[in-house]
Amino acid sequence: MISRVIDFCRRMVGGKESEPSAVIPRDEHNISRKDISDNALKVLYRLNKAGYEAYLVGGGVRDLLLGLHPKDFDIVTNAHPDDIKKLFRNCRLVGRRFRLAHILFGRDVIEVATFRGSLTDNPDAARSEEGMLLRDNAYSDSVEEDALRRDFSINALYYNIADYSIVDFAGGMQALEERRIELIGDPATRYREDPVRMLRAVRFATKLDMDIAPDTANPIRELAPLLDDIPAARLFEECLKLFMAGHGLDNFRMLADYGLLQRLFPSLAPYLDDAKARRLMELALDNTDQRVRTDQKSTPAFLFAALLWPVLDIRAQDILLESGLPSNDAYQLAMNEVLDDQCRRIAIPRRFTTTIREIWTLQLRLDKRAGRRAERLFEHPRFRAAFDFLEMRGEVEGKEIKALAQWWQQYQLEDESGRRHLVSGLFEAKGPKRRKPRKRRPRAPQTQA
Ligand code: ATP
Ligand code: MG
Repeated sequence: MISRVIDFCRRMVGGKESEPSAVIPRDEHNISRKDISDNALKVLYRLNKAGYEAYLVGGGVRDLLLGLHPKDFDIVTNAHPDDIKKLFRNCRLVGRRFRLAHILFGRDVIEVATFRGSLTDNPDAARSEEGMLLRDNAYSDSVEEDALRRDFSINALYYNIADYSIVDFAGGMQALEERRIELIGDPATRYREDPVRMLRAVRFATKLDMDIAPDTANPIRELAPLLDDIPAARLFEECLKLFMAGHGLDNFRMLADYGLLQRLFPSLAPYLDDAKARRLMELALDNTDQRVRTDQKSTPAFLFAALLWPVLDIRAQDILLESGLPSNDAYQLAMNEVLDDQCRRIAIPRRFTTTIREIWTLQLRLDKRAGRRAERLFEHPRFRAAFDFLEMRGEVEGKEIKALAQWWQQYQLEDESGRRHLVSGLFEAKGPKRRKPRKRRPRAPQTQA
């Protein structure tokens, strides 16, 4: 377990009193070098040998203290990017606004950042009218300044390679112990600087099974509309972390409670309290979580297709009524509208919108199985995703869809002759009335338009 914070001392930064800082020596915490990747250790040691400060920071430290396996190890140092480049042959500098060093070890990339200064207290920092930080690129010599510009106290813990201690500038150890997500500094100001922190608060609460501290939670509902100012491409990246990392269902529910989901998916808002629509969304989220947790392939296209299906269905019905277009055309028009609207908020890359359309289009085709149609559908590259989708709809939309899903389930289990038998069985089930005209069809004149 995490040891008690010792050695409290009050520090002064820029003439103002800051959070109490603490140093937790090696024998009072559980992070061992064995838990840190060899490549990250190599980078830390080389920086340290060259006379620089070097720390592991962020999710790596937090997760190790919690006994979890970190996704990656981020390093910070007082060395500037050009200094870092001189130390490592395998180093690439990336990022225009704020330069970072990537140290490459084959496919493993260790990210090294130079300390950044806090702009929160800097009245000259460039901000939008809403208080959003437009630039955040001042280097700093001070690890403490770097700590105070981070988001949550649990993300501002530093593992010091010089003596294997942990440095805690913002009360992160206590927050970890009490399982509390708390922003550093004044919550409303920190959300205004970067509204994505609202999404991050939810994400860490569900991933780490912690509570958002009341002061950190209180402003979210009111400030949720600030998410509208975040570029759609960044929101897509955040959505992947929220919905494709094993905690999608919990995140969805918490985001909806805080009014954040309605900013990410405005078209879903009217359907969140509709029992059937909500159930389909939650089934898809749960299905994705299970797949992620068991390392099965999963695509955000399947999830987005399910979240937006109720919206699509109603939109297509409206178009049908308004225009009298054939059903297929109405659906295609509705798909364009629904996806265009959604992509203005979250920039879903084209490779996924293509798959979403395919999954949707196949829903309209899966009941058309006569002749060789079933065979052709079965060979479609998206058949499996479309079938899984149909099964899920069967759970929600009732008997007819459920029976169709069961038919396809059986089809997949059969050999070739069994499949032929299933297809011919379709006509028998429909009775002689419908068979008659089918028999006549081959004799119909070829020239007819
Ligand atoms: P994960 O396990 O999801 O990677 P993480 O805490 O490592 O969690 P990252 O997005 O990788 O999250 O960010 C690394 C660190 O950078 C964070 O721990 C935090 O200290 C800092 N950070 C990231 N995003 C922000 C932000 N929007 N505002 C302030 N600090 C941030
Ligand atoms: Mg990380």
